[in-house]
Amino acid sequence: MNHLSKQRDTGLINIGRFAPSPTGPLHTGSLVAAVGSWLMARQNGGKWLLRIDDLDAARCRKGFEGDILRTLEAFGLLWDGSVSRQSKNIEAYEDAFATLQKTGEIYPCSCSRADIARASSAPHQGEEIPYPGTCRNGLQKPGEARSWRLRTYGRTISFDDVRHGTIRTELETSGDFVVKRADGFFAYQLAVVVDDRLSGVNQVVRGDDLLDSTPRQVLIHQLLDWSLPQYCHLPLVRGANGGKLSKRENTVSLLDGRIKGYESKLLGCSLEFLGIKLNEQIKNAPCPELLSYALSIFRPELLPKNAEISS
Ligand code: GLU
Repeated sequence: MNHLSKQRDTGLINIGRFAPSPTGPLHTGSLVAAVGSWLMARQNGGKWLLRIDDLDAARCRKGFEGDILRTLEAFGLLWDGSVSRQSKNIEAYEDAFATLQKTGEIYPCSCSRADIARASSAPHQGEEIPYPGTCRNGLQKPGEARSWRLRTYGRTISFDDVRHGTIRTELETSGDFVVKRADGFFAYQLAVVVDDRLSGVNQVVRGDDLLDSTPRQVLIHQLLDWSLPQYCHLPLVRGANGGKLSKRENTVSLLDGRIKGYESKLLGCSLEFLGIKLNEQIKNAPCPELLSYALSIFRPELLPKNAEISS
């Protein structure tokens, strides 16, 4: 297996995307991600697709999809073609899964979260617990396969990011990660690679919060022998407490009456956050005008290297 990154051919038309999960209304951080991916895709006349990441049915809420679509429209962020949805891509996930299974890259795991937490000596934070490798050489509890994991073998992954430059990561052996969950749903890491491939996406622009996931997604691309998209991870907007903004915890839609009339201001702030200077004249222009002005001066080199902002 060739572990060198296979970057996309240059000279291709950009096909970017915005892929929100409908777990809550868009927040200012989502707006920055949408604007950043729109600018990156459109800068050379590329396409900008919209996908609704509705794989995790338990977390998705009815109504948020409509709110997300209307919010993008209100800010002048218009996508190409029809909206795609992860829930329509299950067969493609199954195919990719079968390919990985054939090559022995994945294995069934019978560990529950509690088993893993108990067996793991490494300290962990948040949701991710290092996997101690319990089922790597056979199910610990025969007959009780719960999830499927991909072997990382401590592989070194390298890829280029437009904003961060070359990133080289050693995937810890303890990082054998889930590609199919115990509840039968395909995991985000596998799904997103397949989704992007299916819709011909060759440019993935999203927040820095997903930078940690990218080496795993690069590995899946490589194992399936698919060329890599161009990656660009954008600076994060943080909440007042310094934490990452979460759609699930957000209750205020950007369409809320209190925000009405301030769309240009909010869009202007997002553009400035992404390194675009707006003069006084353009600052109060309607959203579509602001966007076309931004597009006329945007260059990826303008993206700030170390920015983070509290909303
Ligand atoms: N659906 C993910 C989210 O809402 C983003 C997926 C991606 O950009 O890869 O955070």
